[in-house]
Amino acid sequence: MATDPTASAASAAPRASNFLRAQIERDLESGALAQRRFGGSPGDAAHHAAGPLDAARIRTRFPPEPNGYLHVGHAKSICLNFGLARDYGGVCHLRFDDTNPEKEEQAYVDAILEAVQWLGFDWNAQVGGQTVSHLYYASDYFPFMYRAAEALVQAGLAYVDEQSADEMRARRGDFNTAGTDSPSRNRTPEENLARLREMKAGALPDGAAVLRARIDMASPNINLRDPALYRIKHAHHHRAGDAWCIYPMYTYAHPIEDALECITHSVCTLEFEDQRPFYDWLLESLAALGLLARPLPKQYEFGRLNLNYVMTSKRKLRELVDEGIVTGWDDPRMPTLFGMRRRGYTPASIRAMADGSGVSKTNIWLDSAVLDGCLRADLEGQAPRAMAVLDSLELELSNWADVYGSADHIEPCTAPAHPQRPELGQRQFGLGSRVWIEREDFAEVPPKGFFRLYPPRPQPDGSVLPGNKVRLKYGLVVECTGFERDAEGAVTRVVARVVPDTRSGTSGADAVKVKGTITWVGVHDAVAATLNLYDRLFTEAQPDAAGRDFRLALNPRSVVVAQGWVEPGLATAPADQRWQFERHGYFVSDRVDHHPGRPVFNRITALRDHSAPA
Ligand code: ATP
Ligand code: MG
Repeated sequence: MATDPTASAASAAPRASNFLRAQIERDLESGALAQRRFGGSPGDAAHHAAGPLDAARIRTRFPPEPNGYLHVGHAKSICLNFGLARDYGGVCHLRFDDTNPEKEEQAYVDAILEAVQWLGFDWNAQVGGQTVSHLYYASDYFPFMYRAAEALVQAGLAYVDEQSADEMRARRGDFNTAGTDSPSRNRTPEENLARLREMKAGALPDGAAVLRARIDMASPNINLRDPALYRIKHAHHHRAGDAWCIYPMYTYAHPIEDALECITHSVCTLEFEDQRPFYDWLLESLAALGLLARPLPKQYEFGRLNLNYVMTSKRKLRELVDEGIVTGWDDPRMPTLFGMRRRGYTPASIRAMADGSGVSKTNIWLDSAVLDGCLRADLEGQAPRAMAVLDSLELELSNWADVYGSADHIEPCTAPAHPQRPELGQRQFGLGSRVWIEREDFAEVPPKGFFRLYPPRPQPDGSVLPGNKVRLKYGLVVECTGFERDAEGAVTRVVARVVPDTRSGTSGADAVKVKGTITWVGVHDAVAATLNLYDRLFTEAQPDAAGRDFRLALNPRSVVVAQGWVEPGLATAPADQRWQFERHGYFVSDRVDHHPGRPVFNRITALRDHSAPA
């Protein structure tokens, strides 16, 4: 992996070729796609699922199950599928794989729609000046799927099996042993059909029987040893209501969904490679029975995207939420798209990371610093600048009244909103006799190479070396003359004198050379703010690797809440706006907790990657 994440992710050409692109280009060139017709039969609801079919175009799909929130791994799949459709003038379907009623909810459907849109993708296509929605639900195809099941039964390609799940598992065999036939494997199609209709009619309780494909109990590919197609579940479906008490298995439903929607390239992650023979068997069988039209969709597998220090298992993310380890699905430390949005990551930065990570036949491990690099690359040219003090210490300018005639005098200061973009204008703030500086910008005893504030130092010979001079950024040069501390010895105030006529931007600015410039905000006009300083949620690169309990790898400092100060211009800042707080990093006003008058900023990332080797 490249050591400079900014360079690697941001500059990686998003359209670099890969095996999927090569495949699509071959398919477009050969003209094979143009032969396509609709799947299903006329009059079938599913027949119209694919919308107006422009046969020469590619069709991809993103098929989430509405049983949880999308995370950064899904973003990879979204960017890949929508990106291929965009780049090759095709269409990408957003399809809810809602075949498992117990775990699915409308709320997840809504959240997924919102997340896909936020990421910058649209399932609506423009065809001849009209908007065509390519939003689909697998549950709309239940009637077709059931009809296909009956057809398979009648053709002797499926049977009803009453064995228990344990019995079925025991008879499936393993890599070394062929499976054993179920006692009901050789029943007549008529008898199987009667049983299937009983299942559908609700005559049997959950688990009493399944419909299985009749393929090959001795196949070296265990997925072909008569896999289950339908199971009984007396469950309410969030869209289909109580119309069904049998539901298709994912492996059965998915190929049919692809075929009915005329998907050309069904792109999935590597773990489905062993399912591809069944995918092809099923679609070929249904085509042979006249239920589907050729050419049929083809499945292609690519490696998952994984990030170091990030956990993407839906089940474990749910545990983080349920156990209160994070504040919710949109906690800014969560790798969900809602968490990342709230943290302040831009859609463009997530897309750049996903596209830059490429497509390969092995699972990809990316350092989470790559995403931060993409964020910096995206925000560097856009985010307005501001000053903020995170860990404040008061600096008193003791000669202020002497220099300006009044202790209350305010020197107006300006700074560019963005150093390279004059069109964004100037920020205004004032410098008075008291300012907030960072605690770390003062040292009682300066370490070697420390160029910020330190007090005069008495020498063994009785002489005194003067305190250090620094520039208050966009303001004046000040010279440290002393400090105060409380009963416990903690420094409570630093005292300095301003060096007159050293204003930034005036002819006197260079008269006094200083080695340090520090950021600050005025006590009189700074706005108190809560600053959430986030770090990675885990201390281990693979928090849940090899059976490890991820709870043991939690980073106790994944969030540090600082009460600090920001420039006065941010007093009325709206929520969900991003800034670069000079020297501290990129921040966003929190979309939930931030309110003008009660500002809350989240640090998205620091200005540099502090985790990288120096
Ligand atoms: P599960 O199926 O266990 O609920 P899932 O993460 O596979 O979890 P889905 O909703 O089925 O959830 O995922 C939708 C799509 O996102 C699938 O096509 C899946 O392959 C893809 N996907 C999920 N995680 C990743 C990942 N880390 N990298 C790339 N694609 C992913
Ligand atoms: Mg899945």
